[in-house]
Amino acid sequence: MTRPIEFVSYPCPWCGAPGEASIDMVSGEREWVEDCGVCCAPIVFRRVDSGDGEEPEIAVWREGE
Ligand SMILES: [Zn+2]
Repeated sequence: MTRPIEFVSYPCPWCGAPGEASIDMVSGEREWVEDCGVCCAPIVFRRVDSGDGEEPEIAVWREGE
């Protein structure tokens, strides 16, 4: 069963600080940008589907790369 919001942790690609992002499983949005809560740099997130109903994964990188 899929929850409407999933939370995943990630390391900031700019400063390395651990963060937590929420994934909107209902909208199906696949790519979005959020600012790091520590260094305020823009981080690009992309949802990576595992395809078998397991918890989603995300890829993160620096915006502009
Ligand atoms: Zn950061």
